Amino acid sequence: MTNLFTLKAAKEQAGEVSTRNSKMPGSSFAISAKHCQVGGKLAQVAGSTCSRCYALKLQKMRPSVDMGWTNNYMKATRLISENPAQWARAIVFQINKAAEKTGERFHRWFDSGDLQSVDMLRAIVMAAELSPDVAHWLPTREAGIVKKYRATYGEFPSNLVVRVSATMIGDKPISGHAHTSTVHRKAESPAGHACPASQQGNACGACRACWSHDVPNVSYPLH
Ligand code: SF4
Repeated sequence: MTNLFTLKAAKEQAGEVSTRNSKMPGSSFAISAKHCQVGGKLAQVAGSTCSRCYALKLQKMRPSVDMGWTNNYMKATRLISENPAQWARAIVFQINKAAEKTGERFHRWFDSGDLQSVDMLRAIVMAAELSPDVAHWLPTREAGIVKKYRATYGEFPSNLVVRVSATMIGDKPISGHAHTSTVHRKAESPAGHACPASQQGNACGACRACWSHDVPNVSYPLH
């Protein structure tokens, strides 16, 4: 891809890709969790997988985080509505810079926030297509957006794993999606791959299961 950006310009246009999550490999892109659609409703439901949302807590506790994620939300939604290809290029420019810095070609979408529209998912797919040597993982509660996207555009590129999250703690994986995630209580058996992070300093370490096409369901222990 031709280098048409400075890092500053790419961040200003598209929102900022971060490498600050030291518990996870590579880069991530977060938007305000205050704009989650399905998640916003689930956050009010006791026992749902959004009922203990760490991102909302962090936004309440730290105004600078709130401002950064809100800025990312505004920049991403605006540029995606005006010029999704430009947004994808500006994001991929940052993802590639981050990969050079960290040596890890892994990117996570939405360590806070969630998909806002089919158009946003389409723009993320463009970003994945522009960075074929980067593995992308997108966890989402927006099963409806994912279904509509697939009905319109077909399957996702092989370097993008979209994991649709179960609604309630203790639920089975949601059906109709190739990649899913669940949350299990201590006394419950995990469905599929149990996330080992809690046994290794709350970090991914060598595990890359969330990004793997070969792992249909990842189950996170409730903590
Ligand atoms: S399953 Fe593996 S890759 Fe996913 S969050 Fe847990 S440790 Fe990280």
